[in-house]
Amino acid sequence: MSEPRNRRWVVAGRPIGRALTPEDFRLEEAPLAPPGPGEVQVKTLCLSLDPAQKSWMENIAGYRKPVEIGDVMPSFGGGMVTASNHADFVAGDLVTGEPGWQEHVNLPGAELAKPPPGAPLETALSVLGPTGKTAYFGLLNIGKPRPGDTLVISGAAGATGSVVGQIGKLAGCRVIGIAGGREKCDWLVSELGFDGAIDYKNEKVRSRLRELCPNGVDIFYDNVGGDILNDALARINVGARVVICGGITRYNADPRDPSQMPPGPRNYFNVVFTGATIQGFLLSHFTDQFALAERRLAAWVADGRLRFKVNVLDGFESAPIALMDLFEGRNFGKQLVRMGEG
Ligand code: NAP
Repeated sequence: MSEPRNRRWVVAGRPIGRALTPEDFRLEEAPLAPPGPGEVQVKTLCLSLDPAQKSWMENIAGYRKPVEIGDVMPSFGGGMVTASNHADFVAGDLVTGEPGWQEHVNLPGAELAKPPPGAPLETALSVLGPTGKTAYFGLLNIGKPRPGDTLVISGAAGATGSVVGQIGKLAGCRVIGIAGGREKCDWLVSELGFDGAIDYKNEKVRSRLRELCPNGVDIFYDNVGGDILNDALARINVGARVVICGGITRYNADPRDPSQMPPGPRNYFNVVFTGATIQGFLLSHFTDQFALAERRLAAWVADGRLRFKVNVLDGFESAPIALMDLFEGRNFGKQLVRMGEG
């Protein structure tokens, strides 16, 4: 009998200081070993695409295990158990974890989770997954919303930003989103209940913030950095909280080369006048609270108070394009690649 084979995308380039290209990835075939002791074999059905994957390929952030050229492209995702040497899993279970970009994977059972009851993988990897939880912790634990606060979000129509805004509404905030294009902005207001939206590609963010936030900004939840962060800092109130979740405007710059890096925000000194705080975070800082966050997010989804959109590309071959699309804003909602039904 022939040995089972596994297709996988491996890292072929380090995209430091530039945009991703298709040549940064190589499709390979490798033999598939049986699962070892304590391991579970998973057939990957769905991949989560996250801007941070580009930085993982660059080995710059230092908060994850280094990625070597030729390694399987690291990625969150989900699939179905096909064989198990771990007491918590049996064949047929749906699981989430970090399969990487490969059709089959053997992972320690301890590194896998089961989606909340009844949640399809697309839900488990989006609103209940890493981006949904990032929104939850970034807003509630760092942004600390209070009823009546004005909350402004950049990257507002994305997987993280769209959840931040809806949790902000549940917390009683007035919510303004900043996103690229009329269609995304209309969705934020008409479907998600945001109080206003700014199309940063066609409008002047600074003057629109002045119009839409006449009483200033109490929480700025930033996913993009750059000029939008600077414009938001011009409007912060006394005691404002600036949550640095991401900075996608700088992800194609080389942090080792100061001439490539965007300048620091000119308006940072408003932090002194307002006593505001600027705080960053990683989702991994909150692993001890994941179970509670997942239960609360799932309850809001179930009763219709939290909506979400997924942007699904079909086929394993689409993974590199799906990742590149995030940096062009071609995704509308959480970017996923579907490799099978789950
Ligand atoms: P996403 O928002 O669903 O997709 C990325 C979006 O970024 C695109 O749809 C695009 O939307 C926008 N964008 C791309 N280039 C831009 C630019 N030059 N200027 C302004 N906007 C731009 O992705 P996500 O997974 O939810 O991630 C959002 C941010 O959160 C990223 O910065 C990510 O790194 C960060 N994040 C942080 C953590 C953490 O632990 N701190 C965890 C997860 C995610 P438009 O069409 O609106 O331009």
